[in-house]
Amino acid sequence: MTLRASHDLHNAETRFAGLPISEGVAAGRVCLFNERRHSNLPSYRVSGEGKGREKRRLKSAITAVVERIDGLVREVADRVGPAEAEIFRAQKVILQDPTLTKQMMELVDDGNVNAELAVTRTLDDYETRIQEVDSEYIRERSTDIGEIRRRLLDVLRNMNPSLQCAGEEHCQRGRNRVIVAEELTPSLTVELDTKHTIGFITERGGPTSHAAILARALGIPAVSGIEGIHGLISCGTDVLLDGDSGEVVIWPTEETLRRHPMLGPGLPRPGAVGPVTGLRVMANISLASEVAEAVEMRAEGIGMYRTEFEFIAAGRTLDEEEQFERYVSVVRAMDGRPVTFRLLDIGGDKAASFLDLPEEPNPHLGLRGARLLLARPDLLRTQARALARVSTHGPVSVLYPMIVDREQFLTLKELFLESIRDMHAEHLEHGVMFEVPSACLQAREILQVAEFGSIGTNDLIQYLFAVDRNNELVARDYNPDRSVFWSLIGDLVNAANEVGRPISVCGEAAGNPALLMKFTDAGIQTVSVSARLIPGLRLAVC
Ligand code: PEP
Ligand code: MG
Repeated sequence: MTLRASHDLHNAETRFAGLPISEGVAAGRVCLFNERRHSNLPSYRVSGEGKGREKRRLKSAITAVVERIDGLVREVADRVGPAEAEIFRAQKVILQDPTLTKQMMELVDDGNVNAELAVTRTLDDYETRIQEVDSEYIRERSTDIGEIRRRLLDVLRNMNPSLQCAGEEHCQRGRNRVIVAEELTPSLTVELDTKHTIGFITERGGPTSHAAILARALGIPAVSGIEGIHGLISCGTDVLLDGDSGEVVIWPTEETLRRHPMLGPGLPRPGAVGPVTGLRVMANISLASEVAEAVEMRAEGIGMYRTEFEFIAAGRTLDEEEQFERYVSVVRAMDGRPVTFRLLDIGGDKAASFLDLPEEPNPHLGLRGARLLLARPDLLRTQARALARVSTHGPVSVLYPMIVDREQFLTLKELFLESIRDMHAEHLEHGVMFEVPSACLQAREILQVAEFGSIGTNDLIQYLFAVDRNNELVARDYNPDRSVFWSLIGDLVNAANEVGRPISVCGEAAGNPALLMKFTDAGIQTVSVSARLIPGLRLAVC
């Protein structure tokens, strides 16, 4: 992403275009996250007695960091969810690797270096080797190595990890701070005092990074991809960030702040609004922990649980038990209201490096969704078994992503049923996402064999109009309000009515009150949207 305005930042309002990675709007003071605070390390030769002292320092630093990570695991599991806590558990496993400790101790013994140098040399070397491995998943672990190095050096150098600005009080102790960093790491996201963090702006990090998912789960707006911003501004700068559009405004004028609707004092977010007649409003969730907000907003069910995010957040595939625990907690929280689990929709923009899939020139048209499940029946099988167990605790609907035709759906459904043949299951329904134009054109045939349909407008718009949903350069063209789109929605509703199957909309377009009216005019009676949008939609139809 490039800078849109001049680099003259002397209190003049300056706008940047970034990548929105966590929704919401925030305005506050910048707090620069100082990632380079360990660049001038103390370095000295040790001998004799000195070696014993350095090794003791190393040992107690490792113990202190392990304890700190244990604390973080508990805190994150509590505040966000078990999958996110796993990220930190992985750091603990690396840190407790005996070869790593041995290497550090040997550097003190044989290389005569102090503890700080032993840490950096060992972990730098580890990081280099990891980056040479031919697996994107393993290479991504280098972020963890960097975190471990920072934590150990913080302890050895007696630095408080929450003090990022080396003493610049106005941003450290001030409230409403916006953290500006080169990269948003999972630790940075949850370790900083999030009560006082109202936003993140970073140079690197995509929307499916662990950190982006955490920021979203914590409800902190974030914008990424603003090259060079860390070096361009200083602590204390006033900033406005829009996690929905990706815009960042440095030194916003009063006028800009006033114009921003989400910041306007006259527009508080509505609290929960009860169900209304004529429109059933359900919630979309990505992580089990988000069900609490769905309950709070009085969602009439979970219309789409994007289960792939549980895997992406954990950074690995989850086994049957781990999936069961997450899924059943959602069913329990919804207390008899329907829960629709979308089968893993991995691929496209939701890359999952832990699966070690081949790199593709065009992932949006590649091995994703239904196609990936066919290529990796092991993933489908484990998920099917977890869902079959969940179905004995409450009604479970299974939604098949990116289906292109009836045969593909039937093949996958057969694989699902075959995987649970030996199990006891109850209340299981199978439905299809209508998000690929070819499936929409065969809706009647598909709905004769599927029990329900759900229209995924995000991908449908992308594939119908050949416009990338993630590319801000073509954002203007990403517009559903065209007659061909509405006639397709009308055809889908007619097809569903003819064969007597329910059909709903679960894409973002349904969360837009102006478009909602068009969906209801077309005959849609059920929508599923982010929980925070539910009150606004209900008020709009009242
Ligand atoms: C969609 O494509 O509209 C949809 C709901 O799924 P996702 O946004 O996860 O692709
Ligand atoms: Mg989709």
